[in-house]
Amino acid sequence: MGRYTGPSCRLCRREGVKLFLKGDRCQSAKCAMERRKKSLIPGMHGAERKKLTEYGLQLREKQKVKRYYGVYERQFRKYFEMATRHKGVTGEMLLQYLERRLDNVVYVCGFAPSHKAARQLVRHGHVLLNGEKVDIPSVIVKVGDVISLVPGAEKMDMVVRALEGASSRTLPSWLEIDLNKVTATVKSLPTRAEMCQGVMVNEQAIVELYSK
Ligand code: SF4
Repeated sequence: MGRYTGPSCRLCRREGVKLFLKGDRCQSAKCAMERRKKSLIPGMHGAERKKLTEYGLQLREKQKVKRYYGVYERQFRKYFEMATRHKGVTGEMLLQYLERRLDNVVYVCGFAPSHKAARQLVRHGHVLLNGEKVDIPSVIVKVGDVISLVPGAEKMDMVVRALEGASSRTLPSWLEIDLNKVTATVKSLPTRAEMCQGVMVNEQAIVELYSK
């Protein structure tokens, strides 16, 4: 399946929640979720949202999480399998793997305005992991890892704007973040409350969907 290249806001409207896919715009009155009727699903005629079956609800939870983190089915499934092999609550472990992806860390640290922008920063070689250039967004960080940007990248417009925005919001406590030096150290693993920030997720529904 190819990469989704349509409008990001459409994904939020489809899921009926804000997924924060467009940086600053998501916090402004221009957000499509603020402007449009939330009960309508995207499409030419904006059909009303129907009552979902149990399967439909589980499927929507999965799509919501995949879209929030920007991962595809195959990779998502891989994280689920890793989570089932891990000690602990499977749904929480699944979210923890997603939260520990390098692109997500770059985003939640405030070095990039959105997941998409963070992924681009990583892919284009602007991100260092423990001082080494890493261009794979799906790398899973571990306790003690240090994430930073290559010298000069902090002057990129996108990064400057993201850092400005980050300085006025609460940053996750599992990361020790220095916005001036544009570095972050993984202090601990994220707790459930620190995952999927701003988006309500019922991860148990995803576990039930995959356990059918
Ligand atoms: Fe668009 Fe962001 Fe609003 Fe989603 S949260 S509808 S991506 S502006």
